[in-house]
Amino acid sequence: MSAASAARRVAPELDVAVFEADGFAAYGMCGIPYLLGGIVPRAEDLLAYPPSEFRDHRGIDLRLGCRVSAIDASAHQVHVAGSGPVGYDTLVVAAGASPVRPPVPGLDRPGVDCVALRHLVLDAPAWVPLGPAANKTGRVAGTVASGGTAAFPGIVGTAVVKVFDLEVARTGLTLAEARAAGLAATATDVVSRSRAKYYPGGSPLHVRLVHTPDGRLLGGQLAGREGAAKRVDVLATALSARFTVSDLAGLDLSYAPPFAPVYDPVLAAAIKADHAAHAAPATPATLTASATLTTSTTPATPVTTGRAAPGGSA
Ligand SMILES: Cc1cc2nc3c(=O)[nH]c(=O)nc-3n(C[C@H](O)[C@H](O)[C@H](O)COP(=O)(O)OP(=O)(O)OC[C@H]3O[C@@H](n4cnc5c(N)ncnc54)[C@H](O)[C@@H]3O)c2cc1C
Repeated sequence: MSAASAARRVAPELDVAVFEADGFAAYGMCGIPYLLGGIVPRAEDLLAYPPSEFRDHRGIDLRLGCRVSAIDASAHQVHVAGSGPVGYDTLVVAAGASPVRPPVPGLDRPGVDCVALRHLVLDAPAWVPLGPAANKTGRVAGTVASGGTAAFPGIVGTAVVKVFDLEVARTGLTLAEARAAGLAATATDVVSRSRAKYYPGGSPLHVRLVHTPDGRLLGGQLAGREGAAKRVDVLATALSARFTVSDLAGLDLSYAPPFAPVYDPVLAAAIKADHAAHAAPATPATLTASATLTTSTTPATPVTTGRAAPGGSA
């Protein structure tokens, strides 16, 4: 729906149709765990927009319950199960993360691949199938398909999850991923607090920064009862800006006792990492096994590299 809406915005004169196999469009799939857990009371609450929003207000011919069974690229037609072929000028395929790989000759050639996003830390394509990038690349696909110009700069692999009472967040590379990518990497760990020590309701917050021995920030992971999700976005921004831990330590982050200690846990970790970087001998070309506080035994999480789509990431 992001692609269709973007296409409609760029070229209002186009006929835009969406074939959706399911009975719903634009619902919060990411909310399903919270529906099952009883936090979201009703399935209908997950609907971002009713079909009428697309049909009546955005002028999109949304066809629910219409499974596309075949694409005839030479005839510029899609075949919809149970009905006839439908012609198209430009086609955007957004069928989700588990596409069937039909026996089409050339499917394995470069440039024919589901979407692989450019990972800005790895500087290589990576498969990180999460919601924000799915929406943004949809907008890019719809914009470009309708004659507009758009680009997706890439990702840094940011994710957050609620595990019972814990917030667990990550961005960039873990220590294991960085080493697997051949980068000289080390980790700095701190355990700080989500609020000022004297302020009620605070809890411990674990912060790990992954960086090169000379201080280039490669990633960060946080876990705690509160404050991990807020802070991982600071690290994601720092990664996009290609910060060093020294740059990170200099950030003017917000402080008031109900929200953070005067040295935010991110700053505390960055200062410690910066000290380590200045103390470390200059060995950027070699892998180092020493972590500043603890060495990681974390297994590699799947940052899977793949082929980029031609001309970019969408
Ligand atoms: C339970 C759950 C929780 C998640 N939580 C998070 C989260 O907290 N944070 C996060 O970043 N990401 C989360 N994700 C991942 C996120 O939902 C996906 O990255 C995102 O939905 C992918 O969008 P998409 O448009 O590529 O695919 P989809 O959302 O899967 O959309 C593809 C659509 O294509 C339709 N389709 C498939 N084949 C055909 C066909 N032949 N003809 C017509 N229609 C077809 C499908 O019915 C589907 O509606 C979660 C996913 C799940 C399942």
